Amino acid sequence: MNSKIQAAEENLIHVYNRFPIALDHGEGMYLYDTEGKEYLDFAAGFAVTGLGYDNKELNGALKEQIDKLYHTSNLYYHESCGEAAEALNKVSGMDRVFFTNSGGEANEGALKAARRYAYTKGTGRYEFIAMENSFHGRSFGAVSVTGHDSYREPFEPLVPGVKFAKFNDLESVKALVNEKTCAIILEPLQGEGGIHLAEQKFMEGIRKICDENDILMICDEVQCGMGRTGSMFAWQGFGVKPDILTMAKAIGNGIPVGAFAMTEEVAGYSLQPGDHGATYGGNPLACTAVKTVLHIFEREDIVGHVNAVTPYFTEKLEELKAEFDCVTERRGKGLMQGLVITKPIKEVNDRAIEEGLLIIQAQGNVIRFVPPLIVEKEHIDQMVEKMRRILA
Ligand code: PLP
Repeated sequence: MNSKIQAAEENLIHVYNRFPIALDHGEGMYLYDTEGKEYLDFAAGFAVTGLGYDNKELNGALKEQIDKLYHTSNLYYHESCGEAAEALNKVSGMDRVFFTNSGGEANEGALKAARRYAYTKGTGRYEFIAMENSFHGRSFGAVSVTGHDSYREPFEPLVPGVKFAKFNDLESVKALVNEKTCAIILEPLQGEGGIHLAEQKFMEGIRKICDENDILMICDEVQCGMGRTGSMFAWQGFGVKPDILTMAKAIGNGIPVGAFAMTEEVAGYSLQPGDHGATYGGNPLACTAVKTVLHIFEREDIVGHVNAVTPYFTEKLEELKAEFDCVTERRGKGLMQGLVITKPIKEVNDRAIEEGLLIIQAQGNVIRFVPPLIVEKEHIDQMVEKMRRILA
């Protein structure tokens, strides 16, 4: 065993099913381990590194910021907090944003913000409706709305007042709505749960239920946001705007940063000074990452690139499905797609590592493909060739 891996095995709490490689550096679409082996990355660290690795502009901005200032504890403003917030609100369609350090923390804040909205209005609403098969993070609030028993059961009792509806089944949502419902939380494209895309009428139906009952719609775009589905945020692809939007992962391209954002109307009734905070949230380094990433997204038209490359990506995944009996379904949208397979996932993962391909799994024996958004046709061809050998 590599000494780096051995030290980790002996000293870390074992909660991750890590692949048995120790990474050293990355460049563009590729990662390299400490032994110099090259890996083509179709995982992007769970859809995080949208701009890939070693982006010189981002590296430069971060290094410059480190040399200037990287902490203020939110006691003071700093140069980038306003710029990052303004840029993120512009692309997300929201009006007010709070920066967190992770996606789970963004959801945690969104749930609190929804309860605070109901509290100010004096509606007495406190219940959340979440979706079966969903994933929202590991903190108590986030895990309480995560729709998998395996994530929840060992930690019960959890936050009270959470009910689960069937994803894409509006009637099952309606059956749970009552005068206590405070918010409905969902991922427009479920990632961890197995790459399930919300149906247009489901998104519209949720919006209607929320509008008719003064319930808040929370979209968790921690994984599916930031260009991945072919619009800057997935809600824009549906034309169904949430009241609260949560983001993380690709907004900082790997620098730990998340956010929850809301409309001006919700902000008027929601969190007040002293209600919420985070020592590191929105620190100068994180905000520099967000503003620089957004700047690159706009200048390089990353969303346009996602839309240009998606048909080829889809076609090639369909080819794999047609060629191999063990592939039973392709699903997803844009550069967030999955292949359902009948082979044991572990076997596929082991072979992928041997072949120098990074892929990840999702629930339901699904291989999840979430490459950096800078992926080109040539990388897709390389991935398909490797997949052919892996599935053979
Ligand atoms: N929400 C979704 C949809 C996610 O996919 C994830 C992580 O995979 C999270 C929340 C939690 O994010 P984090 O691990 O940054 O807390």
